[in-house]
Amino acid sequence: MPYAIGYARFSSIKQGSGSSLERQQAMIAKWLGENPEYKVYPKTFEDLGRSASKGDHLKHGLGKLLQAIELKEIGDGDIILVEAIDRIGRLTATKMFSLINQILEAGVRIVTLQDNTMYGPVIKSDQIWQLLGKIEQAFTYSVDLGKRIKDSYTIREQNARKGLIPKRRTPIWLNTDGTLKEDIAVAMKTAFEDALSGLGERRILKRLKISHPTFEKCHPASVRKWLTNKAAIGFWREILTYPPIVSQELFYQVQKRFEDAYIPASAPTKHFLSGLVKCGNCGSSFQVKVNKSSPNSMHCSARAIHGIDRCENGTSFPVPVLLRICHDTATLAMETALQNIELSKAKKKSIIIDGKLNDIGKKLSNLITSLQQYGAIPEIDSQITLLISERKKLEDEKRYLVEDDVANTTNYEEAWDYQYELIEDDPMRLNALLQSVQYQIKCFANRSILANTTGNELSKSVYMNYCRKIQAYRLRANGNIYNIANREGTFSKERLSTFKEMLQAQREGTTAFKEIETSPADSEILEFLAAIDD
Ligand SMILES: [Zn+2]
Repeated sequence: MPYAIGYARFSSIKQGSGSSLERQQAMIAKWLGENPEYKVYPKTFEDLGRSASKGDHLKHGLGKLLQAIELKEIGDGDIILVEAIDRIGRLTATKMFSLINQILEAGVRIVTLQDNTMYGPVIKSDQIWQLLGKIEQAFTYSVDLGKRIKDSYTIREQNARKGLIPKRRTPIWLNTDGTLKEDIAVAMKTAFEDALSGLGERRILKRLKISHPTFEKCHPASVRKWLTNKAAIGFWREILTYPPIVSQELFYQVQKRFEDAYIPASAPTKHFLSGLVKCGNCGSSFQVKVNKSSPNSMHCSARAIHGIDRCENGTSFPVPVLLRICHDTATLAMETALQNIELSKAKKKSIIIDGKLNDIGKKLSNLITSLQQYGAIPEIDSQITLLISERKKLEDEKRYLVEDDVANTTNYEEAWDYQYELIEDDPMRLNALLQSVQYQIKCFANRSILANTTGNELSKSVYMNYCRKIQAYRLRANGNIYNIANREGTFSKERLSTFKEMLQAQREGTTAFKEIETSPADSEILEFLAAIDD
């Protein structure tokens, strides 16, 4: 969790005895309360009664802060909160820019609370002029400016309450006027769903990049920020301001995933089967071996790395065979995975309440830390009282939630449909969903393959061999021989749809498969071929 470091300064005793310090502290504390994703830095930095025009503060409070940055106690991602840029100094423009640059170069950003502006990680060109103006005015000490900015801040907040869109840094899916960038909003919604399915941030970003060029230059750390930004459910400073892009229950379920530090069993990387196939002998994951002249195969990773001492299972299994087994046997696991995601109404409600309670908890703890640091501030006291009563209300609401039985509406057939939809459109999400319910295929040294779901044709099978005559892998299960075509490891769309139609027909019992009549002479030849192949 990044730190937020408050820095307050006043120069004359007159300012100190008046409202200056209190106002600065209250602003800092208020921001901390509203931004629970930041932790309050344990030390305070203040320059009380020190002028910033002579640079005294550089030897004291601000100087210590800069030292902490130099020592990397404060660093990348942390934020310094000041009332306005003039708190940092009233020095000449060149000195001020170098001072600010020193802070930003350490990856620390500066937020000026009066105008709610963030500087960093770099100063943008439009900010330079704005900043220069402020520095000049601070240098010439314009009291007027402070008042104007403060007014504009209040006006913005009032406008937000009236439903007018505040001008501020908006998240990636919003235009500056607060309207939706539709295509990006759609991509973000998928990102939320991906996070809920268990995909990691890197993977999510990769997929975002494919879906829209806007994400091209983004960093994986941004993914977490977007997915935890309440603007996704329309909120800015607790006021419904923007059009929401996801439902509250999806948003809070994702928050819960993050809270639980949910890590997908092994982040699916490049191959759909990664993480799903295990060694029956030692339990290690099977890894894909890329073969140049034949389809890829999988083998025990422990054996591949550490040799026969670690694992006796040296058998390789062709990917097309394992894919076929996975497609045949995963549906039951898919059903469970979907049921886990699908919640009863009461559960959804309860997740939203838990999410809100969690928000309140973080705000309270930040406010209380502020109280300890800055002493009694009436505004904070009243915020705490408000939060406590809000918490009580939510707790009551949760207590009286009537648990409606989880009416699982996902059935096997729906799971099957979704499974095949994902095979076609989104195999990595399928992989994550299957891993989330520990679906596994185990491969043993004696060539037997065991899926941990039961009841399917290929739940238990034995990989026999590759038959060159018919160019197919042969698999035995329940006394039947299955020939699996030796083509590329994935389904082509056409083949898949044919396969789907065939399975659908089988499921409905409308198949009209006829046994192929083989002449006795042909049978004899086939038997002979099979015999020499073994
Ligand atoms: Zn092994």
